[in-house]
Amino acid sequence: MLISDQSKILKCPHCGALRYMINVLSGNSMGAVRWSDTKVEAPMMLSSSSVLRCPACKRYHFYSDSELVGLSEPDWERTCRDCGTLSYQSLKKALAQLQPYGDKEKMLRMMLVNGYNDWYGGCLGTRQPSEAPAEERTYFEQNARRLIELVADDSLEWMFVSAELHRELGEFEQAISLLDRIPKDWFLFSMAEQIRHHAEQHDCRVFILDNPESQYRRIPAKECEGEICQESEESIRDRMRIERERVAFDEDDDLI
Ligand SMILES: [Zn+2]
Repeated sequence: MLISDQSKILKCPHCGALRYMINVLSGNSMGAVRWSDTKVEAPMMLSSSSVLRCPACKRYHFYSDSELVGLSEPDWERTCRDCGTLSYQSLKKALAQLQPYGDKEKMLRMMLVNGYNDWYGGCLGTRQPSEAPAEERTYFEQNARRLIELVADDSLEWMFVSAELHRELGEFEQAISLLDRIPKDWFLFSMAEQIRHHAEQHDCRVFILDNPESQYRRIPAKECEGEICQESEESIRDRMRIERERVAFDEDDDLI
């Protein structure tokens, strides 16, 4: 994985504060672990969280709603590794504050499913779903049902996710009836069959796709507190403009 020595500088859509974020130039899926609830842990492919909390005003926003102002000065000593990751409890606060709709709501609710399973998914490193405190279980059930409702008849990918959510809710018949509708030539069919196998066993725990017996420990998302950039927006934009002009000039040089 290649991380740039220049951090991305993002602007908060609420208060305009600037923050440093990780700038990943390339990665790969080597060593990636794919869980049945769609969570992928890929150590060689870091990416920024889709939902962030501003380190200045502490309010939440979607990454896509923040503006990329520019890049920091190159600095190998302080290479920024902040992905803006939020904990499960912070994601719950983000949903309450943002009240998103459409694709953003689907994305955030899916992140909440993954976050709940990090603690109560029943795999190694987590507690069994039956051990979840009542209020956490209720929150999960309401979130999963709302997500199923939002993605009904959306796409095969979401049908696959809905089947998994029904299974995690212990609604095994509904899970199997959705899986029955997935065509055999679909590229995720073999994974759908693994979900069917677990539904038939009345097993609602999350598992690793393709390797259900693996003893891999589920690692909960750890909150990254971002670092505020002290440089002014104008000077960053100026620097970027000078950089762009220099690159354009060099390209002209090559032509001669
Ligand atoms: Zn802010």
